Amino acid sequence: MALIVHKYGGTSVGAVDRIQNVARKVKGFVDNGDQVVVVVSAMSGETNRLVALAGAMQEKPDAREMDVLLSTGEQVTIALLSMALKATGCDARSYTGTQVHILTDSAHNKARILDIDEKKMRADLEAGRVVVVAGFQGVDEHGNITTLGRGGSDTTAVALAAALKADECQIYTDVDGVYTTDPRVVPEARRLDRITFEEMLEMASLGSKVLQIRSVEFAGKYNVPLRVLSSFEGKEGPGTLITYEEDGMEDARISGIAFNRDEAKLTIQGVPDQPGVAYRILGPIGEANIEIDMIVQNVASDDTTDFTFTVHRNDYDKALAILQKTAQELGAREVNGDDRIVKISLVGVGMRSHAGIASTMFEALAKEAINIRMISTSEIKISVVVDEKYLELGVRALHSAFNLEEAPAAP
Ligand code: ASP
Ligand code: MG
Repeated sequence: MALIVHKYGGTSVGAVDRIQNVARKVKGFVDNGDQVVVVVSAMSGETNRLVALAGAMQEKPDAREMDVLLSTGEQVTIALLSMALKATGCDARSYTGTQVHILTDSAHNKARILDIDEKKMRADLEAGRVVVVAGFQGVDEHGNITTLGRGGSDTTAVALAAALKADECQIYTDVDGVYTTDPRVVPEARRLDRITFEEMLEMASLGSKVLQIRSVEFAGKYNVPLRVLSSFEGKEGPGTLITYEEDGMEDARISGIAFNRDEAKLTIQGVPDQPGVAYRILGPIGEANIEIDMIVQNVASDDTTDFTFTVHRNDYDKALAILQKTAQELGAREVNGDDRIVKISLVGVGMRSHAGIASTMFEALAKEAINIRMISTSEIKISVVVDEKYLELGVRALHSAFNLEEAPAAP
């Protein structure tokens, strides 16, 4: 017997028959003797529909009222799922975030969970009931409804699992796990049996949108075993377990390849090489709320320096205008940029203990005559910037250079 938290996203509860499918799935666990807490999202499309309604009322909808509105989506699903469970003969009770005291701060639309009172849920579980909780919502100390940011139901599920010290938090979704890379780019991409929290964070922040990033951070912090698996009949399987690094995992060396299509880079050339230059160049960019990703500084022989950095493609024009102004102030030689670039990243905890990974990566790209425009590294990640036209070729070349289509041999 185990205590398991399940989470079903919008597509998994997007229609009456899908909710019934979820009820059958949950019942299977209950019949097996498990205690189950289920967290659900709003039916697919519902949150977007509510956002659009709000936009028709106010140009910039009031944040507090927005949370009152958006939280209704999940309230519909908890009631429907509880009814569906009862129809299968499974006792169940639904709760809003307020009812189970998912206490958050007061940052409407992006609140953080501070505390959860798990007593009521515990009593229901002991009484043999399934507990169905609305994802994405909480309540602040003044009793205001809050929401956790788009995709926040994942975080609700992990937080409940942490509070209840659940054996596992299972995120049911429309894919059957976390893959070595996007199967639309590499058809041979393989589902990973395991990935570490750290690797998952890198994959998620690089655009692999299986889980809300905050839920992964939360799971890592509270050591909640997290599993991603498919909610659809006929696609049952073990999914991917996200967990702490264990002995033997480093042998897998590389877990996956993530990429980001929305990159742009900007260069300012011939700025005087003096203290404070980086600050004068990047300060105004940060003040304009533009996030900077990679930064490279070159030093030339004539006491000038070149600076290159990357931003999100949507911020390119704005960043270019700011940089041109800075260039005039600093007497820089030239400003140029390119918004047709992408970032490809190799992710794996095995990098910590294996030399030669970077050279294998660069060799594979060289063989395809792909020019690397920038490189950055962290302990478990190597990223390169290349021309947009090389994205698919580059990802495929790396996938095969590291044999990611083959399952690693058991340690
Ligand atoms: N319904 C919310 C959203 O669409 C929360 C979630 O689905 O996790 O963002
Ligand atoms: Mg989601």
